[in-house]
Amino acid sequence: MAADTEQTNLTEQTPVPFRAEVKQLLHILAHSLYADREIFLRELVSNASDALHRVQFEMLTNREVRDAGAELAIRISADEEARTITIADSGVGMTREELVEHLGTIAQSGVKALMAGLEAGQRGQLIGQFGVGFYAAFVVAEEITVISRSYRPEAEAAQWRSRGDETFTVGPAEREGRGTTITLELREDAAEFASLAAQAHRQAPLDFVAFPIYVGDEQANQQTALWRQPAHTVRDEEYTRFYRELTHEVADPLLHLHVSTDAPLDLHAILYVPAARERGVLERRVEGRITLYSRKVLIREEAQDLLPAHFRFVEGVVDSEDLPLNVARETVQRSPLLQRIKRTLTGRLTKTLAEQAEQEPDQYARFWREFGPFLKEGLAADPTVRDELLPLLRFHSTKAEGDALIGLAEYAGRLAEGQTAIYYVLAGDLDSARRSPHLEALEARGLEALLLVDVVDSFMLNGLREYDGKRLRNVDDPDLTLPGAAEEAAAGIDDEAFDRLAARAQAALGERITAVRASSALRASPARLVSPDAGPQHELARLQRLLGRDYSVPPKILELNRAHPLVADLARLTGERPDDPLVGLLVEQLYDNALLLEGLHPNPAAMVGRLQSLLEAAARGAG
Ligand code: ADP
Repeated sequence: MAADTEQTNLTEQTPVPFRAEVKQLLHILAHSLYADREIFLRELVSNASDALHRVQFEMLTNREVRDAGAELAIRISADEEARTITIADSGVGMTREELVEHLGTIAQSGVKALMAGLEAGQRGQLIGQFGVGFYAAFVVAEEITVISRSYRPEAEAAQWRSRGDETFTVGPAEREGRGTTITLELREDAAEFASLAAQAHRQAPLDFVAFPIYVGDEQANQQTALWRQPAHTVRDEEYTRFYRELTHEVADPLLHLHVSTDAPLDLHAILYVPAARERGVLERRVEGRITLYSRKVLIREEAQDLLPAHFRFVEGVVDSEDLPLNVARETVQRSPLLQRIKRTLTGRLTKTLAEQAEQEPDQYARFWREFGPFLKEGLAADPTVRDELLPLLRFHSTKAEGDALIGLAEYAGRLAEGQTAIYYVLAGDLDSARRSPHLEALEARGLEALLLVDVVDSFMLNGLREYDGKRLRNVDDPDLTLPGAAEEAAAGIDDEAFDRLAARAQAALGERITAVRASSALRASPARLVSPDAGPQHELARLQRLLGRDYSVPPKILELNRAHPLVADLARLTGERPDDPLVGLLVEQLYDNALLLEGLHPNPAAMVGRLQSLLEAAARGAG
């Protein structure tokens, strides 16, 4: 009887529709062209390797596991006549429910993002560079059959089969041993993949898989744990290759760091700084990932807390013999050993970056453009990392041309006589910063200012109040007294004319300004805005803008340059035609111009109406 039921069950494969997003993906796969079709093999081997890592972990943590004695390996075989290729592993396997869940839906959010991107019109080859996991096999397969048995002692074998259209079927299967066997019935135009010879030379990218891969009877990979090799024996291209295997990233990393020590701590790690901060829709991961091994056994795939938050973009592997396997459930906070690893890795990475900043400034500038904001944020958020981050900071400066960058040490090394502060100007972009009227007084004295144009800069300043005993000072600080002598500014209009204009300006601008006064700092510009107080509230508006909140521009002091022709003309107009609305419009535009250069104008388009009136007036005047 029992045998009977089994017979019927075996033929009872239940059809199940794919989830909508899988259907969509399969449709795209079926209608795309590939530069790189053999990618499917990498995906399947990578899944097999994950499954082996997981079962290895289950065995080491004393769980009961089916087939505990089976060799942990991947076997690839092919049949040219039948036009099939088979990838089998002795990993964790899947139950029937797991087959439905894992192979009927898309787990990776990256794939969903990819599809959104593809909908927007891109197609074809791009997808070939991108990991779509298991489903990539449908690029070469007409039909895929998966037979699997979970490591759980009570689990039965199960089968999953699909032609990559609307549905798959799932049902019972016969299989003694633990693990998964995936058989691809190849499409006619992919028959080449059924020849073993063709496979063998494609094995190279699989070298870093930690388990033996047998193609036919021969082991096809070197099973190198690259991070356990002495650093001087590893070539750059091997690091790059390993990076690609690890991250499925297409671009080369910006930097790699190989840490290999035995004593006092056994630690072998390879860390990578990726090429870009945004991975774009086509990339698989949005944030860095560190894989943690102990004795080559994978313990945790996302050991993010092994590095401080400001290095959270870093990816790589970390392996230590000293780690007990149960550390998988420990946090870095609770494990002194993990804390030591974190300190060591952070120290080495910081040092490597600092060296690059010194020795290869161009390379470092690329790093800084991508990841500088993370370090600035770290500086503001965590006072304990301040000292180690200082040497890594880079800035634009009035004395560095174009977008060249300088460090704080460089600034501090060329202070003018009597200079005890480091000056900076905040602006929305480099161009506005360089045009800032605040700089005129510094320029007149040959003083240098840092140009802070990144949105996180005002936030960073919370953590960077001084450097090497020198305070950082905003050049719009009204109390700023500058060292050194400068040529006296020209006297300009007389007091009476100035006071009349000041009163008129105050009336026009109302609560937007707290006072109008004559400036001793300005040379070429007619006006600037300074903050009435340089306290902590000072940068609030900028912070709110950074956080994407509505902000209102805080009241400012309007400083006018008495010697500027525009100011002189305004004063004259105010005297001659006190009621002409033109004066009010001109003053408002002067204020808006200053706000624009501060990078604080909430709505530049709102100026158009007024500019229009001014243009009309100018045209009338010219006529
Ligand atoms: P990913 O591997 O990125 O999660 P895939 O679509 O390749 O995405 O696989 C989906 C899931 O199917 C995996 O997360 C895993 O749980 C399961 N799976 C795939 N292949 C195997 C295998 N050989 N052994 C066990 N589980 C597997």
